[in-house]
Amino acid sequence: MTTTADTPRHTPLPLLVLGHGRDLESERGVECPGDLPAPSDPSLVARARAAKEALGERVFVLGHHYQRDEVIEFADVTGDSFKLAKEAAARPEAEYVVFCGVHFMAESADILTADTQTVVLPDLAAGCSMADMAAVDQVQECWEQLVEAGVADRTVPVTYMNSSAAIKSFTGRHGGTICTSSNAKTALSWALEQAGDGGKVLFLPDQHLGRNTYARDLGRPLEDCVVWDPHKPMGGLTVEQLRDATMILWRGHCSVHGRFTVDAVEAARREIPDVKVIVHPECRHEVVELADEVGSTEKIIKTVAAAPAGTSWAVGTELNLVRRLAAQFPEQRVVFLEKNVCYCSTMNRIDLPHLVWALESLVEGRVVNAIRVDEDTAHWARVALDQMLALPGETAKD
Ligand code: SF4
Repeated sequence: MTTTADTPRHTPLPLLVLGHGRDLESERGVECPGDLPAPSDPSLVARARAAKEALGERVFVLGHHYQRDEVIEFADVTGDSFKLAKEAAARPEAEYVVFCGVHFMAESADILTADTQTVVLPDLAAGCSMADMAAVDQVQECWEQLVEAGVADRTVPVTYMNSSAAIKSFTGRHGGTICTSSNAKTALSWALEQAGDGGKVLFLPDQHLGRNTYARDLGRPLEDCVVWDPHKPMGGLTVEQLRDATMILWRGHCSVHGRFTVDAVEAARREIPDVKVIVHPECRHEVVELADEVGSTEKIIKTVAAAPAGTSWAVGTELNLVRRLAAQFPEQRVVFLEKNVCYCSTMNRIDLPHLVWALESLVEGRVVNAIRVDEDTAHWARVALDQMLALPGETAKD
């Protein structure tokens, strides 16, 4: 069935100019009082250092791999979203967890940390376009349609970590599991087994990760996949299509990884002798099929680190990470796979002025931009996260 990725629609996410005024109507709760230090302030590095020192063990700063260098410099630990949430949970002495990443990551950290800890996101407009492509009311609506089609009782939701707490909670309520890009294969195998003969998986919100895991990692036919478009009646599918499908893929994607193309892979192979292409599984299926290696950010880092000196890598993931890899491993040739600039714009909203503002506010006893997930949502989201940790062979790895 339909498996190619065309250009999905975005749930509107109005953006604001960093640190300038606020518009609560359009900014989804962004509190930006306009007193951020200027980006050009030469004392920002010293101010960040001083604030961190003043807070000592009361603060723990997490930096996602896709963050800017200027922010990563102040991270106590770096990693992907799940690793960072676990790191936060393992630091109960830290009263404040400053999450340099995006909103859904801070939510997961809040779910996994103790009630006595407060998670802070330096800029509340640091969302994720993929997570925003699956709103909870859309997912509820989809489920109701699956009930009407008579397939819901044989459908198990599998939800990627890159989703809102509300979607994780939906997953827990319906007996599903969360997955990461590292354990998607195990999670999907488990879910298919739970669903039983003729059963289905509803994979949220990244169609590419779902498709790549099903077809590439499990070696199952692409024809078993259908794409649920939340903007169309019945997801744009017929009851027969739903009944025949094994994988119901939500029509969401990553605005960064979805941009890598087959042309870019071919150009890298033409231009760089013996190049190895390594891409993230959020890339389109046709790109993943052409790559030499596919894996999570952690796998990409480990692969390049372990490669023999003198090897060449064209890397298909966020540009901040690729640039750091190139700097860290000068004995390799590490290039960015796509010619178009490919930063994650929302990740990049966390900059040094916002970090300094958040840290200095804490020093002054003011908690800004706290992320709190309500207890009921957190409970069911935790059920789905615990299910992931209970997956066979899952050792809470990255
Ligand atoms: S890189 Fe993609 S999935 Fe990650 S935060 Fe940015 S838009 Fe979301």
